[in-house]
Amino acid sequence: MRRLAFSALLFGTFVVGGAAIAQEPQHFSPKGKMPSKYTIEAQQQQRRILPLADKRDFEEAKRGFIAAPPYRTIMSDKGEVAWNIDNWDFLLRGKDYDSIHPSLQRQAILNMEYGLFEVVSGIYQVRGFDLANISFIKSNTGWIVIDPLTAKETSQAALAFVNEKVGQRPVVAVIISHSHGDHFGGIRGVVGDAALAAGKVQIIGPKGFVYEAISENLFGGNAMTRRKSYTYGDIVPFSPYGQVDASIGKAVASGNVGILPPTKVIDQAIEEMTIDGVRMVFQNTPGAEAPAEMNTWFPDFKAFWAAENVVASLHNILTLRGAPVRDSLAWSKYINEALYLFGDQAEVLFASHSWPRWGKNRIQEVMRGQRDMYANLNNQVMHLANTGVTINQIHNVYEPPKSLQQLWYARGYHGSYAHNSRAVVQRYFGYWDLNPATLVPLSPEDSAPLYVEMMGGAGKIVTKGRELYNQGKYRYAMEILNKLVYAEPGNQTAKDLLADTYEQLGYQYESPSLRNSFLAGAKELRDGVVPVETAKAGSPDFVRGTSTELFLNYLGIQMDSRKAEGMQFKINLGTPDNGEQFVVEMSNATLTTIAGYQAKDADLTLTIDRRELEDVMIGAASLGDKVTAGKAKLVGNAQVLAQLGSTMVKFDNWFEVLPGTKAKLAEQPKAELFLDDDPVVMRPEN
Ligand SMILES: [Zn+2]
Repeated sequence: MRRLAFSALLFGTFVVGGAAIAQEPQHFSPKGKMPSKYTIEAQQQQRRILPLADKRDFEEAKRGFIAAPPYRTIMSDKGEVAWNIDNWDFLLRGKDYDSIHPSLQRQAILNMEYGLFEVVSGIYQVRGFDLANISFIKSNTGWIVIDPLTAKETSQAALAFVNEKVGQRPVVAVIISHSHGDHFGGIRGVVGDAALAAGKVQIIGPKGFVYEAISENLFGGNAMTRRKSYTYGDIVPFSPYGQVDASIGKAVASGNVGILPPTKVIDQAIEEMTIDGVRMVFQNTPGAEAPAEMNTWFPDFKAFWAAENVVASLHNILTLRGAPVRDSLAWSKYINEALYLFGDQAEVLFASHSWPRWGKNRIQEVMRGQRDMYANLNNQVMHLANTGVTINQIHNVYEPPKSLQQLWYARGYHGSYAHNSRAVVQRYFGYWDLNPATLVPLSPEDSAPLYVEMMGGAGKIVTKGRELYNQGKYRYAMEILNKLVYAEPGNQTAKDLLADTYEQLGYQYESPSLRNSFLAGAKELRDGVVPVETAKAGSPDFVRGTSTELFLNYLGIQMDSRKAEGMQFKINLGTPDNGEQFVVEMSNATLTTIAGYQAKDADLTLTIDRRELEDVMIGAASLGDKVTAGKAKLVGNAQVLAQLGSTMVKFDNWFEVLPGTKAKLAEQPKAELFLDDDPVVMRPEN
């Protein structure tokens, strides 16, 4: 994580006259602006209306604390910093920052809890080692681990720490609650190959886990990584003027990311099993927070594990990094079902993010509040939509009920009410507001020059934009400056003024998803596109988890159809070791795949064991190497492979988002067929 060095510079402790004085962080950008008087007033207004007297979250976040480790950083196997909780130590100085929405600052402080906690006798959690929590349940002879974090290094550190403080025990089972990377990527830190091969550890996951974990990240992987750089603030330094929190944790750890298939898949709606003396009742919740997810009730502990379905925030109905839109009503119903099934017996509610809730009253209050929050979002947005409010208006019209606004756990951190209300309309109706003018509109770069011309040119727009900015009318300033930046991508004055505008808006948003997006936009308008390291996985684990059909489907996306005009061929592919067969056909500049067939008139027949193909998929060998080594056989016209290869494009991880922020490349980089060095990219959340 390159930005660690950045924050070390900014938040260094200086020794003056024998006393250590923590220096107040400066803005990380020479062009950065302090919060304006309008932003300060907006934050003060929030401090007056927020339910700050309700401090139960702070008691719950600290309850059961056993110990924090002596270290604050966790190193990766590569010798880089995988995690550093001190990135955000500016939050622990008792200062109210006007550059942070007060409700967000409160959430960001709550997420600073770090160390080992007892949930109830026999259940432990390590928090603050990664974006998610890792949980440990004492079974007869060992540990049942729930959700082993994003990286091998962080989960390994957590396991070592619980063993040190509570007593050494072997891991006998791992429960993966759902298909997002912050819940399974670190599985190699708690499960060794030897234990797995000997059948000494079970891996339990929800129906559809591996397919969803891989496919969600494969087809749109490159764009999703780029989108995450905005919405998670990957490109914004840790700072009161930058990234302060990620709603459901501080940030995603870097390090080794893996995936292992479950040895036991939970495929019933409600399913019971006992492992090493621990009784468990699983509740599958597909289509809510993740396409494959499950809650777990532990009757012997009277503990309800809510996976990521109940956290201390409104979650995303549409995650801004990009994913299919979720079902707010179904989500509400799953919580309601859990409330009626387990809510009157549970003595603790714990989850993969945030902190536990204890006692029947509190548990039921939180579950009701979360149930109602998702139901209201669905129902009231649809109510408004039925009166004619469109996707382009709903975020300015919909408000959650006043009573929900007073509940901390129903506030819009991870999912803002603004973007979630639009998502509900999107789910039912799609993007179109029924106005023909928005149905097939011009691209912004095509319409903007006409606007600028008609508005009287750049000078007038900058003058008016500055006037609006100076009046604190940031969304209006954004409206016209954005047009100018599209019309004149080289106009740095316009870009800087738009950046200043985004920055004040970012400071004022309660949701870090919005804050990070606006601050990331401001940064790229000022500095241009500057790549940073982000969590990625192209590991052998991921390739093994990627079915050959999924991989071939992805090749159809990776090829550029415009380069395939006039091509026509069929390839029979067989992988004898697993008995699979495919026809891959190029026709009408389109690559299609069908499993279970072979064409009689194929131009080429390629035979290679799936095990060998995996080397090619991950880039450890080329198809040519495999042919030379006698591991792959080609019969027919091998030239069609070269043709297919000539259509493949290597995606640029750092494509331009905002106009004029990246020097245009003369030519797109070429990818060799089957040699993409980043075949399966994973975005950890959520
Ligand atoms: Zn998560």
